[in-house]
Amino acid sequence: MSLASGRTYLAIPGPSVVPDAVLRAMHRASPNIYEGELPDMMPGLTADLKKVARTDAHVAIYICNGHGTWEASLANTVAPGEKVLLLSTGFFAKAWGWMAEARGIEVDVLEFGNGNTFDLEQVADALKADKGHAYKAVLAVHVDTSSSNRNAFAPLRDILDDLAHPALLIADCIASMGCDRFEMDAWGVDIAITGSQKGLMLPPGCGFVFFNDKAAAARDALNRVSGYWDWKPRANPEAFYQYFSGTAPTHHLYGLRTALDMIHEEGMEAIWQRHETLAGAVWAACEHWGQDGPLTLNIQNPELRSRAVTALAIGKPHGAALREWCASQAGVTLGIGLGMATEDDPNSEGFFRFGHMGHVNAHMILGLLGSVEAGLGALGIPHKPGGVTAAAQVISGV
Ligand SMILES: *Cc1c(COP(=O)(O)O)cnc(C)c1O
Repeated sequence: MSLASGRTYLAIPGPSVVPDAVLRAMHRASPNIYEGELPDMMPGLTADLKKVARTDAHVAIYICNGHGTWEASLANTVAPGEKVLLLSTGFFAKAWGWMAEARGIEVDVLEFGNGNTFDLEQVADALKADKGHAYKAVLAVHVDTSSSNRNAFAPLRDILDDLAHPALLIADCIASMGCDRFEMDAWGVDIAITGSQKGLMLPPGCGFVFFNDKAAAARDALNRVSGYWDWKPRANPEAFYQYFSGTAPTHHLYGLRTALDMIHEEGMEAIWQRHETLAGAVWAACEHWGQDGPLTLNIQNPELRSRAVTALAIGKPHGAALREWCASQAGVTLGIGLGMATEDDPNSEGFFRFGHMGHVNAHMILGLLGSVEAGLGALGIPHKPGGVTAAAQVISGV
């Protein structure tokens, strides 16, 4: 017997749950791309996207996933042979660095490990040592989805300003935008990138690159910019759907219109608070279970944890077994461990992650945690029963 029949729940850190209203908005005949509703919608879409990133700067829309926005952020700012400084707290930062190297960019990596945030002194020392300002950009991930740590950006801006270092500050907000508080302009971020399939609640397939005037000047100073990744035509709502960028992602744009309506109706502050409370419920359950068993949160300090994703260790093979049980017996799919492989556990079977990003509410999180507690019991994995009660207390504000 299985108890998985019923509506399934993909509780992984992207793609996230797509709201029914977004699915309905996308379920339509192909619209006219030359005139009418779709072109008319574009200026409003870009304005509402910028409100999510908390910026008055520019936004370019691509038909791509997050990897594409990594490429776009580099293609418009750094030429092959030039240098960047990469701050790494997990797998996603490293993968962005590999992409830069593949473009012929020289990447200096400051590695801070999977359980930590940046050591600001080390960052300052590295930039101070760069007397000739060879670093064109500092690449940093806001929430590294593999380790589930969250990094602060305002201190990076302070360091760059104190040293009068002209490098662009580029933030990967693919996991965090619309989930964890992010303030592009107030924090002095020059470029922020995100994808459609996490906090923005769409299917994968659209990428968004926000860039300010300083970044625009860097692009204009390059000798050449690859045609597809050039953000200039894509940041112009008129040109985007017309001639210069190819066919617009028609149905994604309709879905995006509805998603942005939902986001701004709830309000950014309320969305961040909802993620904060639901993440707190997840942490409370995990900390409770872990009192009598092997389960541990990857990030110990709550200040450094993402509100969108939680990475956990539980020991091989419990992580893989729990994921299998939850999917087959409870209809809920947990995320795999990523970038955590060791010699004893090459396939990361001792790790798993919860995605709690985007279109999630209290009953979904309590259902997720209740299913995990049932799985821990069914599989005989040692834990202290009562994690769901601990989570419920966070949600009821007790
Ligand atoms: C998901 C994610 C990516 C990669 O996005 P894709 O859409 O899978 O290409 C990059 N960085 C972070 C922080 C992410 O969470």
